[in-house]
Amino acid sequence: MKYAETVLDLVGNTPLVRLNKVTDGIAATVLAKVEYLNPGGSSKDRIATRIIDAAEREGLLKPGGTIVEPTSGNTGIGLALVAQQRGYRCVFVLPDKVGEDKRNVLLAYGAEIVVTPTAVAPEDPESYYSVSDRLAREIPGAFKPNQYSNPNGPLSHYETTGPEIWRDTEGAVTHFVAGVGTGGTISGVGKYLKEVSGGRVQIIGADPEGSVYSGGTGRPYLTEGVGEDFWPTAYDPSVVDTIIASSDAESFELTRRLAREEGLLVGGSSGLAVSVALKAARDLPADAVVVVLLPDGGRGYLGKIFNDKWMRSYGFTDESSESTVRDLIG
Ligand code: PMP
Repeated sequence: MKYAETVLDLVGNTPLVRLNKVTDGIAATVLAKVEYLNPGGSSKDRIATRIIDAAEREGLLKPGGTIVEPTSGNTGIGLALVAQQRGYRCVFVLPDKVGEDKRNVLLAYGAEIVVTPTAVAPEDPESYYSVSDRLAREIPGAFKPNQYSNPNGPLSHYETTGPEIWRDTEGAVTHFVAGVGTGGTISGVGKYLKEVSGGRVQIIGADPEGSVYSGGTGRPYLTEGVGEDFWPTAYDPSVVDTIIASSDAESFELTRRLAREEGLLVGGSSGLAVSVALKAARDLPADAVVVVLLPDGGRGYLGKIFNDKWMRSYGFTDESSESTVRDLIG
């Protein structure tokens, strides 16, 4: 019989699929690594197991303990999967820009959530960083994974995501593109691919316009899970060759096109990453192989990026790209 012992054994080994339509006019091969096929629906499943294993080993998390983390949703899902298997309680702190669909997913997995305002500085006592610090101090037996500084985040990508890309492209990958949030993905994958290729693979970070990685001030943008208003220690700039920014409008347009043209229902940070991958690939020769990582699926964004009314309220869509809902009876 072929089966996994628990869902945790289904994390990783996600496939690569070639992008064929949105790459019109591009000579290089562009391959998407489809991280929404992880059991919790995102690349964050990878970091959760490694972070919790290490915390147990180091005595930071004991039986019956509580996991407290600021998370835009995906890290929470990954941590909730691990917590369920091992009997921990989860309390997650979310900024209010995170959509209701995503909040409900965390609740469905049995986690507790606390929602904080997005439009405050990180040092404000109301910010999601401050609130999670306070909860971690106040709840007995609390462990705060802190994905922004926990070295096990980037390590999980160094040990799994990077080797999978090298193995599946048979060493032909020439460029790797990923959105930068905590920086864990790009730092771990980047370090591995640099080492294994002798520095040949180019590592390109995708950043929402306004975020610090591409020289912004941290001003608000709508793309979730990527960009920062501070420099996390999980981010290792030494393995990143270039950072390219895209606007929310560019990222969301690509997000919608990936669903309609490539059959990939993904989130806004995937649209961002592909938009940057296409900018980078435009001038590359036919033998270049660009791997772009799609962190999560689109179900959590149906009321936002895939909702014409929401998009129009920010001035993002023109009529030609709007969804068609026709009343066939009337
Ligand atoms: N996209 C989404 C939807 C995410 O939740 C995250 C994690 N914050 C990222 C991209 C960025 O990944 P990383 O934190 O590894 O930089």
